[in-house]
Amino acid sequence: MPTPSLRRRLRVSGIVQGVGFRPYVYGLATSARLGGFVGNDTDGVFIEVEGEAAAVDGFVSDLERSAPPASRVQRIEAEDIPPLGASSFRIVASHHARTGTALVSPDLRTCDECLAELHDPDDRRHDYPFINCTNCGPRFTIIEQTPYDRPETTMRPFRMCEACQAEYDDPADRRFHAQPNACAVCGPKVRSVPEATDPIRQTRQRVADGEIVAVKGLGGFHLACDATSEPAVSALRERKGRVDKPFAVMVADLATARSIAEVDGDEARLLSSKERPIVLLPRRPNTDISELVAPGNGNLGIMLPYTPLHDLLIAPGDVWVMTSGNRAEEPIVIDNEEAFERLEGFADAFVLHDRDIHVPCDDSVVRVLDGVEYPVRRSRGYAPFPVPLPFEVPPILAAGGELKATFCLAAGRDGFMSQHIGDMKNLETLVTFEHAVNHFTDLFRIEPEMIATDLHPRYLSANWAEGDGRPVVKVQHHHAHIASVMAEHGVVDPVIGFAFDGTGYGTDGTIWGGEVLVADYDGFERAAHLAPVALPGGDAAVRHPDRMALSHLRSAGIPWERDLPPVGDKIESVLETLEVMMDRRINTIPTTSMGRLFDAASALAGVRQTATYEAQA
Ligand code: ZN
Ligand code: ZN
Repeated sequence: MPTPSLRRRLRVSGIVQGVGFRPYVYGLATSARLGGFVGNDTDGVFIEVEGEAAAVDGFVSDLERSAPPASRVQRIEAEDIPPLGASSFRIVASHHARTGTALVSPDLRTCDECLAELHDPDDRRHDYPFINCTNCGPRFTIIEQTPYDRPETTMRPFRMCEACQAEYDDPADRRFHAQPNACAVCGPKVRSVPEATDPIRQTRQRVADGEIVAVKGLGGFHLACDATSEPAVSALRERKGRVDKPFAVMVADLATARSIAEVDGDEARLLSSKERPIVLLPRRPNTDISELVAPGNGNLGIMLPYTPLHDLLIAPGDVWVMTSGNRAEEPIVIDNEEAFERLEGFADAFVLHDRDIHVPCDDSVVRVLDGVEYPVRRSRGYAPFPVPLPFEVPPILAAGGELKATFCLAAGRDGFMSQHIGDMKNLETLVTFEHAVNHFTDLFRIEPEMIATDLHPRYLSANWAEGDGRPVVKVQHHHAHIASVMAEHGVVDPVIGFAFDGTGYGTDGTIWGGEVLVADYDGFERAAHLAPVALPGGDAAVRHPDRMALSHLRSAGIPWERDLPPVGDKIESVLETLEVMMDRRINTIPTTSMGRLFDAASALAGVRQTATYEAQA
């Protein structure tokens, strides 16, 4: 007697689109001889399978156990429905309902299979800089709308050739429904300015000759040069007006990374991960790397190639500076025309391509401490994967702070953190911020009912929110820091939170930053803090660790003696002016900042008397 047939409807949510999930489901179902279908909609993937009960159960447990490498399953919901007598399995068209929140995959580094094809002279994509498949390639930076289908991406203008279309249509192919699928015949192309017949070889030559080249990548332009060339790195610093702030470098492989920095097992794993962040690593002494890459810094920010173009440009042994293609404090450049305009005078040549970048996304930065990964900047490779929240929230936009700003769009139990936006100090960054907010609300179909902003009365993001018209909730800076960490770790009970920070506007109008708050999500009590000292010159004090040292000495009752590095050979009238400023509180507010205490210690130890970038001292 045949065992009774069963039909089960499944909903899979998480990162399940554009990562080979449907062909994977197709393979599982057909090998288990199940009938039914699989498809994408705005919530994720929907499946119906029909067959013998044991086979259906086996299918579901396989689905939970193993999934395509680039996918991240958050939830599988199942219900049994009446059987329809289906015996064949198929992949059905996407449902474009204008509701629901499908997750969007971050951009993925080139997979090993595509890399092998890239370097295979017999492969039809040999040396093709835009090779990709369902396991790798651009995602977040080319997606304009969900569900994730080619017409909703910046691949729209490229019509697939017959060979590419055949792969795209074949459920057994690694490129089945790979939306950015392309080849040299039909896909995006690289060109260089000045023009060259072989742009890649010419770019390698230019960099080897000590030139600076603007390279269009995945989430924006980089400015590239040879990290071992002192004159090249020096010219880059001069043109960018960047005095000391470290540059990141890109190397072809782990072996090259190990030749310039100390790399342990966890760090090697992160360097090679699918996210491919910049990893901060202790630099080796006596390498060929110019000291100007990271002046006075014991660490080096290193990343491995994450696009095929990078793989073709950078050979084993090469070390290239790859710094964001922007003017100081402006957002990263993404358009070709914009690059000529804004990077003119920075670059000697340009490597461009004709696949548009829909949203900018800077490289991520991480470091490892005691085997634990700490994000310094969570952006490309991570955004826009959500942070799961420990409770439900109404649709809300958190507009973020000022320095290294990001925002968070939340609804239900998802907190969608934006990519790195930059320092919200100028109009260009505000425009980028607005675009990114609109992109997120479109992508995730979340219309915020209110906006949360920093308490600081002069932050651009706060002013923007005030002008928006929606209800605004003001949140104290360090309460926000602590609540964020609580959410990240799923904590729901009140905590004793330590927020050690540079600057945050306090409820008393002074500058906080060394705070112990007894806090929950609704509020906080300021339980302890560093003793307040004068912040002479307000924000300008950030660039003057010496002034902070003098301020700390003064409040500790220690005289300013000449043998103390921050006193040094300052002329008497300067010291007197500072004294008057502090005592009469002229252009001076009290601060409990931990960052400024670090600055003071650095100045007293004779390390830095001035700072050219945040946290340098
Ligand atoms: Zn691939
Ligand atoms: Zn093609």
